[in-house]
Amino acid sequence: MASKYEGNAVGIDLGTTYSCVAVWLEKKNCVEIIHNDEGNKITPSFVAFTDGQKLVGDAAKDQAAINPENTVFDAKRLIGRKFNDPDVQKDIMLWPFKVISGVNDKPMITVKYRGQEKQLCAEEISSIVLTNMKEIAEAYLESPIKNAVVTVPAYFNDSQRKATMDAGAIAGLNVMRIINEPTAAAIAYGLDKRDKRGECFGEQHIFVFDLGGGTFDISLLTIKDNVFEVKATAGNTHLGGEDFDNRMLNYFVQEFKRKNKVDITSNPRALRRLRTACEKAKRTLSFKLVTNIEIDYLCEGIDFSSSITRVKFEEINMDLFYECIETVETCLTDSKIDKSSVDDVVLVGGSSRIPKVQELLSDFFNGKDLCKSINPDEAVACGAAVQAALLSKTVKNVPNLVLRDVTPLSLGIRESEDTMSVVIPRNTSIPTKKTRGYSTGKDNDCSVSIQVYEGERACVSDNNLLGFFSLSCIPAARGHPLDVSFAIDENGILTVSAKEISTGNTNEITITNDKERLSSDEIKKLIQEADQYRAEDEKFLRKAKVMNALDYCVYKIRNTLKKDDVKLKLLPQEKSKINRAITAATSLLDKNNQLNEVDILEDHLKKLETVLEDLEVKAR
Ligand code: AMP
Repeated sequence: MASKYEGNAVGIDLGTTYSCVAVWLEKKNCVEIIHNDEGNKITPSFVAFTDGQKLVGDAAKDQAAINPENTVFDAKRLIGRKFNDPDVQKDIMLWPFKVISGVNDKPMITVKYRGQEKQLCAEEISSIVLTNMKEIAEAYLESPIKNAVVTVPAYFNDSQRKATMDAGAIAGLNVMRIINEPTAAAIAYGLDKRDKRGECFGEQHIFVFDLGGGTFDISLLTIKDNVFEVKATAGNTHLGGEDFDNRMLNYFVQEFKRKNKVDITSNPRALRRLRTACEKAKRTLSFKLVTNIEIDYLCEGIDFSSSITRVKFEEINMDLFYECIETVETCLTDSKIDKSSVDDVVLVGGSSRIPKVQELLSDFFNGKDLCKSINPDEAVACGAAVQAALLSKTVKNVPNLVLRDVTPLSLGIRESEDTMSVVIPRNTSIPTKKTRGYSTGKDNDCSVSIQVYEGERACVSDNNLLGFFSLSCIPAARGHPLDVSFAIDENGILTVSAKEISTGNTNEITITNDKERLSSDEIKKLIQEADQYRAEDEKFLRKAKVMNALDYCVYKIRNTLKKDDVKLKLLPQEKSKINRAITAATSLLDKNNQLNEVDILEDHLKKLETVLEDLEVKAR
């Protein structure tokens, strides 16, 4: 069957702290994790704005300490959330960049770019990261990439999934499928097993423990031959390495205050430098028992020097580690599979390297050895790449696997007295469609309001409102029947419709967009803006290149002019003409401002290159 997706399709792990892109290579019959231009297989999910340009990945992270207010990270923690969400409020306190409340309480990141204030939503920042991953893959594969499978935490809710799809659309990507991170990691695990054994294996229960930079996700899957069936999933979209860093950051902020009577929390540069040192210390504590932190001139000219032990690090984070284990227990209970029947516990995500986390997890599984054979940083992108190749149907020899995922949260509508009436319980296999019968609540109602919620609480106001719509009906006595249908697609995205069944008349309304989601016009506008920035960035790079070449040309001419042969052969008027050209070039280089049009610089470069060629002939 012909594929509707043309060209290469990649898998992208869009992480809170790092992102990774991979592709199934037909020739090698395996997945290749693609390295970026710095040679790294993972790229920081950082975006920075300066007076001259926009930076992404390593380039953005590397300059974070000197430009903290305009260096954005952790956008995934904001995606699909509201500004007044208590978790968002907590994060904002520790971020050096500004976040304000926008339309519908949408969090808006405020930065200074090219001398002007600019507001961006989390989708836009994620789209810049996605564009970067797309370009990394395009450079490696030497062909344009349109299609991608993007991963999200299994515990992402409907708005967070939709917002991720929007980020893909802004990046000019056709997001073929959104898949859950632990499910993607399970594919990588299955592939690894298959490669080692050279065949498919019998039924296995595997438990994927994915603790990353900003999110925690677990899934229990049954793998039988080529079918990967998720039995239960659980997690926390706001728990991960960043929280452990924050705890350490707070610990040292207090220590600095105690020792020096100086509060560094209002100094973004100092906070950024201390945060970077904390993350490094945390990693070191995964293989050492104690580590030091040394930062010169941290704040108000005061140097900071301290140390932290692994035991202290564990103590300040222990409640978070226990929270992880409690979630593991919930997932197992939901799956109805006993922990003794779990064949393998697979570690994924950078924070799964923390020794205490591994110890607690192994203890929970009665001292079981944990599976560390797959790369925790690359597994998710690897699984996504396999799924992308399968969906594109243009690639041969891809392992033909079938994914059966579940919905992480219960979905339902508001009934009288604010109660949650569940239509689809959590951990139901997707795609799915369920219809439930309801009835009108009041006599002679002309319309009924259908309010859609997700969450596990009995009272709807404790759950998350996804959207609402009204359905007009024929005025009749209360108890008039209605059908409400919920459909979840392969991406975990929900559509709700309602139908009034009366004598021959039916009404039907579908919600596909909730009010927090970007409208198609807004997405179109953001795509245009992204294209415009891309064009500006290309112009910036072209200018940087030509200035560099001009500088080098001047340097070479000056050196050639010093050669005796050349000195003898040059007429005085030729010499002064060359000197004039050099002076003009250096003054253009010194002016290095917006007025230096690329065309003028390129013109000058051409002239100087001719001068250099003539001189080189004379020098022979
Ligand atoms: P991920 O989202 O999977 O890329 O994980 C990134 C997170 O893993 C970051 O918070 C890192 O600081 C953390 N991380 C990476 N390596 C280690 C390590 N050796 N020990 C503790 N945390 C780590």
